[in-house]
This record gives sequence, C-alpha cells and structure tokens, in this order.
Amino acid sequence: MPIGIPNLSFRSKVVMLAVALVAAIQLITLFSVLNALKNEQLRQADASVTLAGVVYDEYMRNRTEQLSTTVSVLVQDFPFREAIGLRDVRNIEDVLENHSRRAGADAAAVFDLNGEHIASSGGGRSLRAAALAAMARYDETGQIGEPTTTTAFVDDKLHQAVTVPVVAPTVIAWVTMAFPVDAALAADIRKLTGLESSFVSFDVGRTEIHATTLPLEQRDAAFAGVLLGADRDSAGALGGTDWITRLAPIRSNDGASRAEDRGVYVALQLPMMAALRAYRDIRNNLIAVAAIAVVLTISAAVWLSRMVTRPIASLVEAARRLGEGIYTHKIEVKSTDEFAVLAAGFNSMQQAIANREQDIVHMAHHDSLSGLPTREIVVSEMRDAIAATDQLAVVNFVLHRFDELASSLGHRTADKLIQLVAGRLRDQLEDGHLLGHLKHQEFVLVLPDADRDEAERRVVALQTMLRAGLAVSNANVSLQIKAGIALYPAHGVNASELLRCAAIARDDASHHLGAVGVYVPGQEEASLKSIRIVGEFPRALQNGDLWLEFQPKVDCESLGLTGAEALVRWHHPEMGRLSPEIFVPAIEQAGGITQLTRWVIDEAAKTMAAWKASGIDTTMSVNVSADDLIDDYLPRYLDETIGKHAIDPARMTLEVTESSMMHDIENSLDVIGELRRRGLRIAIDDFGTGHSALAQLKRLPVDELKIDKSFVMNLSDPRDEAVVRTAIELAHQFGLTAVAEGVENDETLTRLRQLGCETAQGFLISRSLRAGEFLLWARNWSDGRGADIVSIVETGQHRPPRSATGGEGRG
Ligand code: C2E
Ligand code: CA
Ligand code: CA
Repeated sequence: MPIGIPNLSFRSKVVMLAVALVAAIQLITLFSVLNALKNEQLRQADASVTLAGVVYDEYMRNRTEQLSTTVSVLVQDFPFREAIGLRDVRNIEDVLENHSRRAGADAAAVFDLNGEHIASSGGGRSLRAAALAAMARYDETGQIGEPTTTTAFVDDKLHQAVTVPVVAPTVIAWVTMAFPVDAALAADIRKLTGLESSFVSFDVGRTEIHATTLPLEQRDAAFAGVLLGADRDSAGALGGTDWITRLAPIRSNDGASRAEDRGVYVALQLPMMAALRAYRDIRNNLIAVAAIAVVLTISAAVWLSRMVTRPIASLVEAARRLGEGIYTHKIEVKSTDEFAVLAAGFNSMQQAIANREQDIVHMAHHDSLSGLPTREIVVSEMRDAIAATDQLAVVNFVLHRFDELASSLGHRTADKLIQLVAGRLRDQLEDGHLLGHLKHQEFVLVLPDADRDEAERRVVALQTMLRAGLAVSNANVSLQIKAGIALYPAHGVNASELLRCAAIARDDASHHLGAVGVYVPGQEEASLKSIRIVGEFPRALQNGDLWLEFQPKVDCESLGLTGAEALVRWHHPEMGRLSPEIFVPAIEQAGGITQLTRWVIDEAAKTMAAWKASGIDTTMSVNVSADDLIDDYLPRYLDETIGKHAIDPARMTLEVTESSMMHDIENSLDVIGELRRRGLRIAIDDFGTGHSALAQLKRLPVDELKIDKSFVMNLSDPRDEAVVRTAIELAHQFGLTAVAEGVENDETLTRLRQLGCETAQGFLISRSLRAGEFLLWARNWSDGRGADIVSIVETGQHRPPRSATGGEGRG
C-alpha cells in the first residue's frame, strides 16, 4: 500500500483508503455544487432585488403623478384661486384642510411668489423649503412643467411634498402638499416587491429609519454595516452580511434631495436567510446524502476488505506453515475468484515442495544409480534387525574387476549394468532381507536369522546368478563377485562393526584366490599390514628383503623344460613371509609397481645370463602390471637390461593380464607394439578371468595364452574343462601357444595333452625355486627324473608327484 502508515493491518489500510477516496470525492463535489448553487441563488436574489428596485421606481412614479394630479386639481379650483388672489386666508385654509383630508395629505401650504407663507393647514409652514426648491426650478427653466416633488419633514416625519404653481393666468402663488411617507407606504411597496422596505437617511455614523416594514427587533441587524456608496444616487447593496440590500434615492424629480442634508433613500431588503433558503435545503440534503454515502462506503470497504483479507490471511497462514516445514495442510478453496487460483497455485507449490523434499530424502538415503538404500539406511535398519534377532549374517560383496570391465564397456553401459545387477539382486530378496548399495560396485546383503552356512549358500546363489550373465548393450556379460561374511554376534554386536568385518573379509578374499571369505577375528590387521607394506617397500628393496623365485614350465608332450616364470618373494623382518598376492596389489595401488617391475626384469635377466653360463638356456617369463603397460620408458629400460646382460629378447616373455591391458587399451597397445618390435614375447596371463569379448583377442598382439589356474585346477569339472578346451582352441586359431598354469595332478596333465595344450606349469612339476635351486632341479629334470611323470601320464596311473619337486603346498 502506498499509504505510508506503519503498523496498520492491510484491512485497515483498505478501509481507510476507500473512505478517504469517497470522502474526498464527496467533498469536492459538494463544495463545487454548493458553491455554484449558492452563487446562483445569490445572483437570483440580486436579480430579484434589482427587479424590485424597478418595480419600486414605477410605483413611485405613478404615485407621484397621482399626487401631482391631486394637487393640480386643487389649484384649478376657481374659488380657491380667487381666495388666493384675495388673500382670504381663512377660506384658503378651509379649502386646504378639506382637500388635504380628501387627498390623504398631512399638511398643505400656499406661498407667494417670494416664498412667503400665505396660508397653511397641518404643519404646512414647514413646507417652505420644498416650495422654494420648486420655485428655483421654475426660475431656471422659465416653464411651469411638471409638478415638483421633493422630500420634506413635517413634524419631523418624512413626507413627499408636491409643489404646483397657481396660475391666474400668470403664476400668483405656489401650493405645496405633503403626503406621508410612512409604514403604510412601505407596506404597499413590500406587497408589490416582496421585499422589506424602509425609508432611511444616513447621518454621519448613524442610520435614521423613517418608516419601515421591518419588525422592530430586526431593524438594527438589517442595517448593520449598510453604508452609502460614494455615488449617492446609485447606492446599492453595500455591506451587510445577513441581508441583501438595495438602496435607491427616494424618487424626486427636482434634485431637492441632493440639496437636503439628510438625503433620504429607500432600502429594499431581502434577508439572506430567505435568499438562500432553497440553497440551504439542497445543501442539507446533499450533506445528508454524502454522509450516507460515506457510511455505506465504510461498510462496503469493511466487508470487501474482510472478503479480501480472509483468503489473504489463510494464504499468510499457509506460508507460515510452509516456513515451519509443514506441507500437509491444504488451503481450503471455496470461491472461484483469483484467490482460488492463488490458493490452488499455493497448494500445488506446497505439494511440489513436499515431493521434492521426499525426493531429496530418498536421494540422500538411496543410491542414485540403483535406487537401493545407502549405508546410512542399512545401518539404521540393521540396528532394528539386530534388536529383533539372535543371529544375523552380513554379506559384503563387490563385482570383481568391475573397474576394468567399466573401462572396456564404457561407463554408461557400466552404469546400466550396475542397475541391472541391482534389479536382479532385488528380485532375489526374501522377506526381512536387507539389500544396500555402498559404493559403485559394492553391495551389502543383511540376512536376519542366517548362520554361516546359510550366508555361504546365499553367496553361491548370487555368484551363480551373476555368472550366468546379464544382457547389456547386445552382449551377455558374465560377472564374478568377491564376498565377505560377518556374523552377529560372533564378529560384532553393532551394525557398523559388522559391516566393517564383512568388508575386511571380502577384501581379504579378493586378495586371495577365493571368491568368498568369512571374517576371522584379527583380520583387519592384514589390511593394516598392507598399508605398512607399501611404506616399507622401497627400503626392503634396498635391504635385499626381496628376491625372485622361478617356477618351471614344461612341454606337455615331452615334459622338457621350456622356461621359467619369475615370481617375487618378500621376507619381512617382523611380519615374516609376505604373499605377493597381498603386497603386489598394495604396491600397484600405491603406484610403485614400475619400480618393482624394473627390479624384477633386471634380476630375471641377470639370472638368465647366469643360468646360460651354467648351461641352462631357458626362456623367462616376467609379470607386468597395468601401470607398466603405459610406461613409455619400459621398452628402453628393457633395451638397456637386455643389452647389459647380453640376452636374447626372444627368450623373454612378459605376462600381462587382459584387464591390465584394458585399463588404457590404446597406450597399452602402443607399448606392447614397441616391446614386440624388440623381439620380446607377450603372454596373456590369467586368461578366462577377464571380461573382454573373445572377439577382441585378435586385436591383441600376443604370442601366448596362459589359462588361469582356477579353471585348470578344477579340470575334472566339465564346465571348467569346457573353458580350458575353448581357450586352447582359441589360442591355436590365433596362432598362439597355450599354457596351462596350476597343474597340480597327473589327470590334469593327461587331459591337457589330449586337449592339445603346449605348455604346463604347476606344483605337479615344481613349486617356485630360488635361482640356485632351479639349476639343480633343471639338471635333475633333464637327467630323466621327469620321465616318471611322463610314464605316469602315458599309462594313466595315478601316482603322487615326486617329493623332490615340492608338489604340495604353495611356493
Ligand atoms: P600369477 O602370475 O598367476 O602367478 C602364478 C601364481 O600361481 C604364483 O603364486 C604361483 O606360486 C602359483 N602357482 C603355480 N603353480 C600352482 C599350482 O599348481 N597350484 C596353485 N594353487 N598355485 C600355483 P604367487 O607366487 O603367490 O604369485 C601370485 C601372484 O602374484 C601372481 O600370479 C602374480 O599375479 C603376482 N606376482 C608374483 N610375482 C610378481 C612379479 O614379479 N611382478 C608382478 N607384477 N606380479 C607378480
Ligand atoms: Ca604370471
Ligand atoms: Ca597366472
């Protein structure tokens, strides 16, 4: 509201504005209308007073004429003239007396030509001045003309004096008769004009009223402030506020009144009250109407503002609730006006806010990709589950090597895959089970009332389901999981503790070959260990805590030694022997693997050179990691090392896993190309565990296919055998050598030979050996000790491998 009045409600402001507007309009209208009306009334009053003046003049002219005639009749009377001639005073006076009585004159007198009094009746002597004035006029003009009238005072009373000459046949005398100018005359005039009439004369500072129609009590008021104008003849309505007054000289035709000191005027007066009566009536009516209008306006404004402010008040109330976060109250809409539209808009806005808040809450607690609950929700629901049960299993699992898969599939497809997995997992849920999504590829499954066996069964079911594959982007992608199990109450009594234990167990399982691990108390120390390992690795390398062992590879047919795989070993002064499956990934993660690889390459090349000098000229396989494959310096380092130890590059093989190549396929292919140009051989390690489509294999410039030990070790399982057979066939189709690692028994070796596999590596032949041990073993082997195995294989008899080869346990 533009009205700058603070602390007033909207409603009061509306009311005030409306009333002010209406009142202002009423006042302006009233003022102008009344003003115009008043002016018009005054003008009309003025006009009627002026008209009255004209009427008065006419009346007086007639009266004067009539009076003149009366006097003229007298002077024509012969006896009268004779009496004058005879100066018969007695007779004259009788005639004057009689005639005056008849004509209504108060006094009459006869003057001689010198103005001397001859005879008179009434107070006629005092008419001399009037007679003299008539004589003077006669002298001036030399004509008798009209009778002269003038004002005169007889016995101090105002009279109209008419003077006529007595002609016989010359003027012998003058007769003057005085007619009263009195209240009766004033009343006649009032009858004619409708105005109060007074005969007045003005003395200095005093108004003398000679005759009037005014009641006594009004006289002072009527003439208060009435002054004679500068031009005495045209004196009009001057001064006075309560009366409209018109002053005119009493009619005389000889100017005698001018000569008189006490000039006499007629005052025609209209009381203002009367003049403005109509105006006042209309004014009063109009004011009443205006007052009614204002009252109506106030009521209408109050009503309207209530109408307007009630919906506004409910909107204000709704806005306040909204501010407090209450979205459930809807504004009631009864009308169909703009407020209804506003309220409806408000309601839908409120609904939208409520929905958005719900979405935000959902998003905060559910993974945006899978829509599954996040850790927070899982923890809180687990609390309830723990409270309601005696035992419970928590399964933490990740999609194995999903990052590598994602980079080969593309991240959009990978996201799709996650969604599919989430969907599948959700479908498998049973009542009471709780599924959560912790990280991109990390999930958690909470199984109330489940024991260890039950949890493991679940994991196997999950594995089977995901391994069967999911259809995404026209491909069927088979997934592996690594899982960890923690049990309540054995491993922890609260939700986050259990989640942590399950994650540790899973982490440990994925570092080992297993797909599922159950938490072992104290296992987290292993995780801590890996942190320590990374920190201590550079010093260990300097101190000589690391060394290489070599595992032989033999020809499946002849069992002749064909090569060795260099495998790194670390003996920690405090922690003892560390598994490369723990410290290699840790170092990889810490970005220190190229340093290790260079050291291994150098050691391996040195060993090759030493063995050659001792008469064993064999090939050497070295494991390289993803980071090595994008290391531009690796080819030159190999140049240097090969040169330094004078070895044949064609006798060195670099083992790379599919997935490590997929990390950055373009750069990896560049580096691999460089290596092959130098004559080095490339093997695909752990074949079968990666995810790349088989079709991609032909893109990879490799020489050897190393089938993963997980398939080889279970060759009795027809499904694993199928994988191995396919891999061997595939290798041959692409012209690659097939190598089987993890050969632990004779049956496996026999089967591999049948399948046409070229090379075998495994505990059946030998565990990994130190460089010196390897030389001894190789000599023994070529001396024919290995022939035992050949015969076994050929005869199909089962006999445990010779103890000399250390076939049991791991290297
Ligand atoms: P890998 O390259 O697949 O190496 C073969 C692993 O299988 C070795 O374990 C070996 O001892 C084991 N093995 C050989 N024959 C058999 C068998 O008949 N049965 C069973 N169950 N296992 C067998 P190891 O030495 O513990 O190495 C584990 C992994 O550590 C290697 O797997 C490799 O990925 C990595 N690694 C080892 N040395 C190096 C290295 O110098 N550089 C790099 N980058 N990685 C290495
Ligand atoms: Ca290897
Ligand atoms: Ca391997």
